[in-house]
Parts: sequence; structure tokens; C-alpha cells
Amino acid sequence: MNKTGTGTGTASRLFGEHFLHDLNQPELDMLHKVRDLVESRIGPNAHKVAEKDEFAWDNFHLLAKEGVIATAFPNEYGGTDARQVLRIRIIEELGRVCSASASLITGADLSCRAIVAGATPQMKEQLLPGLRSGKLQAAFALTEPEAGSDVRGLKTSIRQEGGEFVVNGSKKFITRGTTADWFMVVGRLEADASRFVAVLVPRGAAGFDISPEVEKLGWYGVPISSLRFENVRVPAGNLLGKVGDGFELAQDALLRARIGHAAMALGRSIGAIEIAAAYMNDRTLFGKALGEHQGAQWMLSDMFSQVEAARALLSVTAQKYDRGDTDVAVYASMAKQQATDLCMKVVTDALQLTGGRGYMKDFPLERFFRDAKLNQIGEGSSEVHKTVIGRDVIRRSTRAQRNPTLREGSLVAY
Ligand SMILES: Cc1cc2nc3c(=O)[nH]c(=O)nc-3n(C[C@H](O)[C@H](O)[C@H](O)COP(=O)(O)OP(=O)(O)OC[C@H]3O[C@@H](n4cnc5c(N)ncnc54)[C@H](O)[C@@H]3O)c2cc1C
Repeated sequence: MNKTGTGTGTASRLFGEHFLHDLNQPELDMLHKVRDLVESRIGPNAHKVAEKDEFAWDNFHLLAKEGVIATAFPNEYGGTDARQVLRIRIIEELGRVCSASASLITGADLSCRAIVAGATPQMKEQLLPGLRSGKLQAAFALTEPEAGSDVRGLKTSIRQEGGEFVVNGSKKFITRGTTADWFMVVGRLEADASRFVAVLVPRGAAGFDISPEVEKLGWYGVPISSLRFENVRVPAGNLLGKVGDGFELAQDALLRARIGHAAMALGRSIGAIEIAAAYMNDRTLFGKALGEHQGAQWMLSDMFSQVEAARALLSVTAQKYDRGDTDVAVYASMAKQQATDLCMKVVTDALQLTGGRGYMKDFPLERFFRDAKLNQIGEGSSEVHKTVIGRDVIRRSTRAQRNPTLREGSLVAY
């Protein structure tokens, strides 16, 4: 064992266990199972998984077999319908070592939530047990060449024709494009473009074309593709929710995925701080350990305190989700924007603290640095979330109690 205490597996954690007080015993058991998997399999293999941008099948099957993916699914279909207070801890734990593994859990929400919420009983029966057990996979197809942040600008059209829906259009940046069996596709109703429609399209449907995997900066292990639909026909039973529900179903899936992205970013931040602090203990310069230099301690101090603050915000958000609070969406925006922007800063500073070693390909921070960027873009960019939050504050302030220091009529006039 070196002097940082790494390599024991039983050493106390750098970040405390205070957030675990939210969990009951079965939830703690699940979290400890995930911790064991991270320690024995997922952590040691994370570098290998990230070597190539190929789907991380081994980790997907492992997390499915161990019931971790099932946390996203209802009990009646073999899932465990876990509370968000548990799921953020699971995702954080995986994100601490491997973005691809964490995204297998957030991806289960993104791609399957609309099926859970809106599929017909027959489709649920047909798909959910397989999606829960890892025998099947779904993808979430919302983004288009001209509709990313401005998602209401999407152009894919869906026409009702007899007992079928007919899909025309294209999608881009679709995670699991090359591996999914089913695609949740959101488009506009051809007869009334103000109404959004979500349908399930199976891989292999006539007229449905999936591009090869598109090369990207990071998040290796979860490849993306573009999709094209030319008069793709699906039966009426593939409709999710009702005609007109497509946008709300997509937002419902994105809400859970945003909470997950925040957890993943915080997990990665925790991992980066653990690595930087270990290096600071081991690395001697100018006659003492790097960790004894005050400038480096101040950097570490900001990183640690800010991550703990963001974790507290995310915990509140998860509790709000579990209670069904009406303001959960704006809290999810806050948690996601704060955690993901912070993660980019933390991994940058952690890499700086580890000097040239951090810049090397075989050192995990190089990968953390590349992976962090995506969390600020996917599931709504930071700028989109700041717009949502700012708009919400202004809207609520019109109804909120005035600060008692303000005299009537004294705001603008004096
Ligand atoms: C690896 C990866 C995986 C993805 N997986 C999926 C998936 O599975 N399914 C899916 O549907 N989509 C997916 N996406 C798409 C993702 O959700 C979009 O990339 C994201 O919503 C941003 O859209 P855009 O890329 O078109 O950026 P744009 O909309 O072109 O925005 C560009 C930038 O403009 C800035 N900006 C945006 N709005 C504002 C504003 N109001 N004010 C100021 N600045 C602003 C932001 O910095 C933003 O990043 C994925 C993307 C990536 C990169």
C-alpha cells in the first residue's frame, strides 16, 4: 500500500457518507453491490472500455444481470422502481470511474421512460421485461439537424394513415443507434404541426436507415449515429401516449436523464479529486509534497467544497422528484447546470494539479477531461438550463413576497 492509502479497497472514502442517510436498508444493499462491482470489475476495466468507441456490452450485461438497470423499471415488469435518492448515488458511483457505465443507467431512463409512461399494455408486456433484463435495448430519438437546443423546431413528420403511423425525417446524435432494437421517435403530426407525436420504430423497419457510428471526442463506450426515416410505417399500437403527448413524454424522460447527468458529473468530479489528492500526496516538489503547497491546497479546497455543495443541491432535487414536487424540473435544471459546469472546472483543475502525468493517455484524467464536456451539452446545454432557471425566477418574483426593506413605489422612482 502506498502512503495515500490507495489499493486497500477497505480504506475510508475521501468524500463522506452523509448523503447515504437518505437510503433505507435494501437501497443501501443495492448501492453496496454497485460499489463492489466498481471496485472489482468496472473501475479496473474502465480504461479498456474507453479505448475504443464501441458499445460497452460487457458492462451493460453486467449491470443488467446484477439488477442495476432494473432500477429504472416498474415492479410489475420485474424492475425495482428505485427512488431517485438511490439512483443518483448509483450513477455517481459509476461516474466516479467510468462515464460509459454511468450512461448505461441514465440511458435506460432516457430511452425507456416514455415506454414505461406511455406504451400500450401490450407493448409494455412485449418490451419492458427485455429492456429491464438487458435482452433488448431502446434509443431516444429527438434531436435533428435543425433542432437541438431549440427542440420545438423539429421537422420530422408523423402521419396517421388507416391503422398506421408513417414517419418521415431525420435525427442526429442518437446514442445506441447501432445497438438499439427499438427507437422512441418524436415528430410533428403532419395534419396539425402544433401537435407532437411519439412512436416506437423497430430496427429493421422498411425505410429506416441508421448511419455507421459517428466519431466523437469522448464518452467512448456509448456510440452515436444519425437516423433517416422515409415513409416508415408502424402500427397504431406503437403510439406512445396519445397524439399530442410526444413533447411531454420526451420532457418526462429528459427530466430523469438530467438528474442522472448531474449525478454522473458529480461522480466524475469525485473521482478527479480522489486522483488529484492522491497525486498531491505522492508527488514531492521544492522539497515537500505538492499537497503541502498552499496554492495547491486552495485549488483542492474550492474543488471539494463546491462538489459537496452541488451534491446537496442534487440530493434536494432527487427528494423533490421522489415526492412529486411541481418545481422539480427547474431544480433538475439547476442541479444539472451546476454539476456539469463544475465538473468541467474540477477535471481541468485536477488535470492541472497532476501536471504532465495527468495529460498522459494511460492516466484516467485525460479521459475524464474529454468526457466532462458532453455533460454540459447533452440533455440541454448549460445555457438552455440557465435560461429556464432565470425565466422561472423572474416569473415567480412577480407573485412572491416583496423584500420588507422595499417601500411601496420605491423600486424605480425615488
Ligand atoms: C454524445 C452525444 C449524445 C447524444 N445523444 C442523444 C440522444 O440519444 N438522443 C437525442 O435526441 N439527442 C442526443 N444528443 C443531442 C443533444 O441533446 C444536443 O446536442 C443538445 O441538445 C444540443 O443541441 P445541438 O447540439 O444541436 O446544439 P445547438 O442547439 O446548435 O446549440 C449550440 C450551443 O449554443 C448554445 N445555446 C443554445 N441555446 C442557447 C441560448 N438560449 N442562449 C445562449 N446560448 C445558447 C449552447 O452553448 C449550445 O451548446 C446527443 C449529443 C451528443 C453530443
